[in-house]
Amino acid sequence: MSTAAASCSNARYNTPVNFDFTEHEESFRKEVRAWLERNVPDDLRGRAFAASRADREEVRKLRAWQKRMHEAGFVGMDWPREFGGRGASIVEQVILYQEMARAESPQLVNRGGLSMLGPTLMKHGTREQQARFLPRILTADDLWCQGFSEPNAGSDLANLQTRAVLDGDQFVINGQKVWTSMAHVADWCFLLVRTNPDVPKHKGISFILVDMKSPGITVRPLRQMTGEAEFNEVFFDNVRVPAENLVGRPNEGWSVAITTLAYERDLLTFIRHISLRNALQRLLGLVRERGAAHDPVVRQKIASLWIGEQALKLNGYRSLTKILRGGQPGPEGSTSKLFWSQLDQDLARVATEVIGPYAQIAHGSAWAPDEGQWEFYALLAQASGIRAGTSEILRNILGERVLGLPKD
Ligand SMILES: Cc1cc2nc3c(=O)[nH]c(=O)nc-3n(C[C@H](O)[C@H](O)[C@H](O)COP(=O)(O)OP(=O)(O)OC[C@H]3O[C@@H](n4cnc5c(N)ncnc54)[C@H](O)[C@@H]3O)c2cc1C
Repeated sequence: MSTAAASCSNARYNTPVNFDFTEHEESFRKEVRAWLERNVPDDLRGRAFAASRADREEVRKLRAWQKRMHEAGFVGMDWPREFGGRGASIVEQVILYQEMARAESPQLVNRGGLSMLGPTLMKHGTREQQARFLPRILTADDLWCQGFSEPNAGSDLANLQTRAVLDGDQFVINGQKVWTSMAHVADWCFLLVRTNPDVPKHKGISFILVDMKSPGITVRPLRQMTGEAEFNEVFFDNVRVPAENLVGRPNEGWSVAITTLAYERDLLTFIRHISLRNALQRLLGLVRERGAAHDPVVRQKIASLWIGEQALKLNGYRSLTKILRGGQPGPEGSTSKLFWSQLDQDLARVATEVIGPYAQIAHGSAWAPDEGQWEFYALLAQASGIRAGTSEILRNILGERVLGLPKD
């Protein structure tokens, strides 16, 4: 996007977004571009659109990268100053994301902490919780995982059965979570537990912060078809957690969780968009290298992906504008997640077609384009329509809560 005026109007909220950049913003862009050029580590640059989050060494590098970005003032740009953020304008935040994509920088590793738990604590946490946890989310000193799903509670999350019973000034937790991404490397977990089994299911849930080093926690990796184990089963066997780690009021965790999920579908998708853009740029490079840039069918497919990427970006700006102006993400944030997952899968499919059989060669072979990221991406993208709410559930939400269609 250049300084040529482009504006988008959000009819629902009547909040026009003006994309003309001021001198100050252009100078911020120069600053961030120069900084990224000097600082994105070579071993992460351009290798990160389908980055592993399972490998401990890779996670260590990504943690160090977030810390470095934080020291330079580029993490939590959208967080208010009182919480250690920069209180930046939407435009500055957008410029940062654009420049991260341009520099082929990876996303920030503590994304669950930054875009889900952080905003949740700002809204529902105590001052002590905010002071204790928020700064360490920004620096990635505490890496967070999300303990929501259970074997019988995925789409029907309120069905969760992991129990927490208050014993003096501690909760005692027993039960099992599943699909917990990064639990094997996380320091902390934001967990949903049942604190009252005798009331309707949405009314007996609490939101608790759990130190992953607590005695009684067992993390068992689940191997995915990528060959990696990014997510895990997590077992809780009489795990004792201080009562002060409860977020919000006891048994009112469902409304806390709704805040977290709305941010997951809205802001987090915007962050994921950096990887998608990285992949699209790389794919363009491959199309040119392989002489396919004049093939009308390939051109059509690439143009369609490009248009999709632009639409996703503009919808992301709309959400970010609303949030930075003091609003909350709402059910309409589900459009971003749904659309992102479709685009992600389309991109993986088109890349596989363009690259041909080489797309199946995995990391480690000299024949693998982009060090095997395409093979990994094609497999990983299968999960995009499941994680953070399946596409069917998102369509239900959009139908019922945004479009007002009848429930049945
Ligand atoms: C890569 C990945 C990472 C994940 N990371 C985490 C994590 O870190 N933390 C965490 O808590 N969870 C995580 N999850 C879990 C994820 O949130 C759940 O997989 C998801 O909510 C779906 O739940 P489920 O797997 O139990 O499927 P189910 O809910 O059993 O659904 C099975 C199928 O039925 C469909 N379905 C179910 N109900 C309806 C309905 N009412 N209407 C129409 N269709 C319906 C679904 O769309 C799906 O196709 C992750 C999942 C993946 C794939």
